[in-house]
Amino acid sequence: MRIDTRCSQAGTRRDPVTGAISLPIHHATTYAHPGLGSSTGFDYTRTSNPTRLALEETIAALHGGCRGFAFASGMAAIDAISRLFRPGDHLVLSDDLYGGTYRLFERLFRPLGLETTYVNTSDLRAVAKQIRPHTRALFVETPTNPTLKIADLRGLARLAHERGAWLIVDNTFMTPYLQRPLELGADIVVESATKYLGGHNDVLAGTIVVKSEALADSLAFIQNSIGAVLGPQDAWLLLRGIKTLHVRMDRHEGNARALAEWLKAHPRVSRVYYPGLPDHPGHAVHRAQASGWGGMIAFEVANNKWVPPILAHLRVITFAESLGGTESLITYPAVQTHADVPPDVRQRLGVTDSLLRLSVGLEHVEDLIQDLDQALALAASAQVEESARKVTC
Ligand SMILES: *Cc1c(COP(=O)(O)O)cnc(C)c1O
Repeated sequence: MRIDTRCSQAGTRRDPVTGAISLPIHHATTYAHPGLGSSTGFDYTRTSNPTRLALEETIAALHGGCRGFAFASGMAAIDAISRLFRPGDHLVLSDDLYGGTYRLFERLFRPLGLETTYVNTSDLRAVAKQIRPHTRALFVETPTNPTLKIADLRGLARLAHERGAWLIVDNTFMTPYLQRPLELGADIVVESATKYLGGHNDVLAGTIVVKSEALADSLAFIQNSIGAVLGPQDAWLLLRGIKTLHVRMDRHEGNARALAEWLKAHPRVSRVYYPGLPDHPGHAVHRAQASGWGGMIAFEVANNKWVPPILAHLRVITFAESLGGTESLITYPAVQTHADVPPDVRQRLGVTDSLLRLSVGLEHVEDLIQDLDQALALAASAQVEESARKVTC
């Protein structure tokens, strides 16, 4: 079955009693035992819940993995993965990892003895150099946030497996519709389902899919032991979102491609990051491992003083954190997501004071273009007025 079909029928035809097309939301926390020593397959909702299970089976099928897990947030999912490791284990991670993931590893797990090294995971040789005898995993994002750097997942999987380590991929920006890391050799794929999988900025969730039974057993144990599971209502919302994932991703991407090209030609924009642009350094690698470019763009304006007036003048695009929903959002990474990163590191990662990140939504692309155009024009003229005032006094 093709992925579009799997998405549009996510959770469908699972209620043998009523035939309900939309999966019932099972709020029950506990389930009657048919007899001593027997079970319906559901005993207590932390361990398993019918609505959550439908979602977990859906996400596993979408990724072509062996089992899926749904958590209360993307961070709860990454926390569960962290607990596969022991003090003294070493991990090599992308140097421009999602800020919350960096915080989790550095502030919570490093003090418990987990060792971490951050490296540009677009550079296979640099990654190879950092692998030590006790390296247990590579943890990468591709494309990364916010400058959309691309890592070669097949190459990283080979490197990891040669050294007896796992490859773990945070696939939030792509979703299984555009990129399936397990098929490229990864062992674990994790997603903040809060973003594109949910797709409507109305549910916080995280998902994991693993390749092997052994990893599935370990994660099932961790999920049940800690209990940061996704509630049934939110599992249903996520299934509802997944039904339109393929349609939404195509539109996100169509809009993003048009916007990236428009931005690139704009005189007040000095740089555009979008993997779909042929001059993006990861263009070829990305094309070989994903079926689309996604809906995230970052761009630099020619003058960092224009940033506040641009954010103030946008009318269609909303200045807000997060990504992956139907409505376009713009963020200012240097101040929002990367405020804790030292300025020199920020500069090296390309997170300059003139960089803006766009999560391109599902609006008509001409409305998005007009909105950016008027905001850029107003920002530049406000700047002209300001310098004129300076000259006069
Ligand atoms: C948002 C995000 C997370 C964290 O997920 P939450 O659902 O917010 O907990 C992790 N990784 C990436 C790439 C993200 O964008």
